[in-house]
Amino acid sequence: MVNDGKIWDVEEAEEKLTPKERVLAALSGDKVDRPPAGSVTSLATLEMMKATNAWFPDVHLDGAKTARLAAAAYEMAGFDTIVPYFSILLEAAAMGLEVKWGKVMPNGDITMPYTAQREGIFKEPEEVRIPDDFLERKPTKALLDAVNLLKSKYGDKVAIVGKAMGPWTLSYHLIGTENTLLLTKMNPKKLHKFIDIFKEITIIFTKALFKEGATIVVIPDHTTGDMTSPNTYKEFLLEVHKDIIKRLKGPVGLHCCGLTLDRMQYFVEAGWNFYHFESKNDAFKAVEITRDKMALFGNVNNTMTLAFGSPEQVRMEALYALQAGVKLVGPECAIPTRVKLENLRAIVEVAKKFPNLKDVKLKAQHNPNWTPPLKFEGVELKVKL
Ligand SMILES: [Zn+2]
Repeated sequence: MVNDGKIWDVEEAEEKLTPKERVLAALSGDKVDRPPAGSVTSLATLEMMKATNAWFPDVHLDGAKTARLAAAAYEMAGFDTIVPYFSILLEAAAMGLEVKWGKVMPNGDITMPYTAQREGIFKEPEEVRIPDDFLERKPTKALLDAVNLLKSKYGDKVAIVGKAMGPWTLSYHLIGTENTLLLTKMNPKKLHKFIDIFKEITIIFTKALFKEGATIVVIPDHTTGDMTSPNTYKEFLLEVHKDIIKRLKGPVGLHCCGLTLDRMQYFVEAGWNFYHFESKNDAFKAVEITRDKMALFGNVNNTMTLAFGSPEQVRMEALYALQAGVKLVGPECAIPTRVKLENLRAIVEVAKKFPNLKDVKLKAQHNPNWTPPLKFEGVELKVKL
């Protein structure tokens, strides 16, 4: 039954909630008419840029263009979320880091924002000053403006997602990744000082995002499995994250890529309302750790499945995540701009049909050392490279 494609021949669930109500209900573990589909990381594709005439890299510094491009995820793909940011360097740029916002290459490829200042801009914690006009600076203001514009147009019905980078990622940008990791061993006291200061940037920006109308805010903090151990999270971030969550009013969640099953119980302990996670982590195992304590968002594979897979493969992975108990189904992280709309719509289709797909049981082979797509029993894998 699974391999003849007929499992999708079921009705969509009757919709009783607005996308915003659906996301908030899923987040709190309340009953939903159907699970929400969406993301909390960048959802911009070339097709969307063409349709909205809002292009990288101009959008990064322009709130109106950001809002227009971001709304395409709701208007064109049917997602329950609108996510108005496409870069992870806005705050660092507002702090004074020199950022190149990318360009359109002659072959049509678009480069992402990056910095040549790989060692960051601060050497000592005493040098760090958060500028008085931090929220007025072009990169931060662009996101605040976008949230404000989206709030007035969609705020009653769609979940508007805000994003403020966490202190660990800010440390990568502002004192350098290598230096951050070195300090964990060489001078932990100094790193604690930096993190305590950068935490204030996260809090100031998150508060401003809620004030402009964000429904939920994601705080990406990349304590990924390939760079840090669970103990590093415990030592440097657990209490810091607890404090951030305590000082914010509104639903906040964590985004962190990579293999994170070994530290997920700490994310629960920190008190995050949701956690947006990657496909390297088996959804069933993740739900086992977080069940009823923290909502999971994600975790459809980007680099293979969404970028190169067929809609059928996308549907299978979306269904697998929902069967596991993932509360909001969508891409695992910022999607590559080449992802086709039909693959994004495939996620939405499964979310809409999910209440009538409960009897279908999928079995998948999950190997964290091998980049998914997941291999489903009895189903031939279709990925075109
Ligand atoms: Zn990510």
